[in-house]
Amino acid sequence: MSKMKCNYCKKILSDDADVSFNYFQHLEINHYTVLSAEDKIMHDIRKKMIKSKKDYDQNKKISGNSDLIFNAKNSEI
Ligand SMILES: [Zn+2]
Repeated sequence: MSKMKCNYCKKILSDDADVSFNYFQHLEINHYTVLSAEDKIMHDIRKKMIKSKKDYDQNKKISGNSDLIFNAKNSEI
């Protein structure tokens, strides 16, 4: 079982679901304003990745089987 210790406080984050995501949320809520420049960059990148994944999942729900339709059209050509 992996554990991650916060660099900014004494909190130990345990690996219940996704420790890196838990740590991300912990930083976002508790320490974002005091992150080092490097940590802030990492945090912003992760934030963008999480957001684009979320958007992708939502798009997938809305458009349904668009991938299948696209492939079917392509194979006709
Ligand atoms: Zn902390």
